[in-house]
Amino acid sequence: SMESTKPHIALLASPGMGHLIPVLELAKRLVSHQSFKVTVFVVAIDHASITNTQLLQSLAGSEDDGLLDIVLVPFVDIVGSDVTMVEKIVETMRRSLSFLRTEISKMKILPTALVVDLFGTGALGIADEFNMLKFVLIASNAWFIAVTLWTSEIDRKEIDDHVKNRTPLNIPGCRPLKFEDTFQVFSMDPNDPSYQNYIETCITMSLTDGILVNTWDELEPTSLKALRDTKKVPIYPIGPLVRSVGKSVLCNEIIYWLDKQPEESVIYVSFGSGGTLSAQQVIELAWGLELSQQRFVWVARPPTENDAAGAYLTLGNGTDDISDYLPDGFLARTQDRGLVVPTWLPQVEVLSHPSVGGFLTHCGWNSSMESIVNGVPMIAWPLYAEQKMNANLLTEDIGASIRVTAVQLDGVVRREEIRSMVWKILVDDEGQNLRARSKELKISAAKALAENGSSYSSLSQIAEICAQHLKTMSSKA
Ligand code: UDP
Repeated sequence: SMESTKPHIALLASPGMGHLIPVLELAKRLVSHQSFKVTVFVVAIDHASITNTQLLQSLAGSEDDGLLDIVLVPFVDIVGSDVTMVEKIVETMRRSLSFLRTEISKMKILPTALVVDLFGTGALGIADEFNMLKFVLIASNAWFIAVTLWTSEIDRKEIDDHVKNRTPLNIPGCRPLKFEDTFQVFSMDPNDPSYQNYIETCITMSLTDGILVNTWDELEPTSLKALRDTKKVPIYPIGPLVRSVGKSVLCNEIIYWLDKQPEESVIYVSFGSGGTLSAQQVIELAWGLELSQQRFVWVARPPTENDAAGAYLTLGNGTDDISDYLPDGFLARTQDRGLVVPTWLPQVEVLSHPSVGGFLTHCGWNSSMESIVNGVPMIAWPLYAEQKMNANLLTEDIGASIRVTAVQLDGVVRREEIRSMVWKILVDDEGQNLRARSKELKISAAKALAENGSSYSSLSQIAEICAQHLKTMSSKA
């Protein structure tokens, strides 16, 4: 029958919008480019599931001809306030495995391949049980993969040296990783279960049929060559993976406002799905925007102290009034040229609007890709996870951003610095050069995705491997 001639691919998305969005975009491409049947398993934690549901609704019943199935994995509340975000994600994923196994075993058409993200590698054993191919989709860049694969093999002494003596990590064939930009995981105690889990993940990753990554050949030629030279595991750059999600009434208001602003005159300020700032930092940012006298759209959240990922799994609770945390009179003084939006807005719609001329970003990799595909230059303000690595790559290698400097003593970025960065990107000549570079990158991204472009070809290769595997399996049956 028709059904058995095309592969069926199962994808597993871990909690967090930054994980879910690229998985959904990959699913859409497998459906629309390859006419594959695709099932996406979505793992959510409490509040985030609300947005997920809206998002999933916005995807359902569109152009996919019934080839796309989305299955919400029932979620369990993980109690304990001292549980870190990463621990929560890891535990939730662990508890999802039996559901996933049962669902897969019940499927009429067994999937040919299982694709998981960085937090889903624990599920790859299920793929083994059912003779499925195994892939990992990394929602970050090739340099990050090179660093992680390499650190899982070297003597821990090198990382200790990096953390204690601040020596750079010299990854063969790649840019060295400076201590100032180090990946958050390296500062963890090597005996911490989360650290060990991370090392295990890296090892598991290298034992798959391939790693899919949200980048493209022309963006990161050096790291991709270094990765391929190791001959450890096939690498498939299939990016940029960008998908717009969940338009709302709010969206219309923002777009209406943007429509009235001059071209490339607005700075868009957002720290991703979960980034939060300290109370003092919120004040400095507000003053910086006000002093710049430029137009802005700012996705603002109530401050948190000592937790830069304060809203990661909850997207903020949406009830706190952000004006309580802004300087007195700020909203009134800036109402003619600024928009403060609480918690969340449809970012891809905003970044693709012609009035937006710059993006002050926490450098989450999805946000970075969304800025690049729209030719919008960035101000890099990394907060947590691998964001400092991303900021380094974007600023010093790719040339898509300028980067803020925090005051050493307290880690706070001052209003004068913010004012000057906004000015640089929207007004100065420096901004013009950056803008020209951003336009080049936008074209390069579009080429990679076009038919026969590098990322298009990578995805076709994966499709071919899956089709081949399906043939082999059916001839055995
Ligand atoms: N996002 C959005 N609206 C917001 C904040 C985030 O649509 O107000 C989307 C953003 O477009 C991106 C994702 O959420 O696709 C966040 O992923 P990213 O890797 O940038 O950062 P993370 O939140 O994972 O740190």
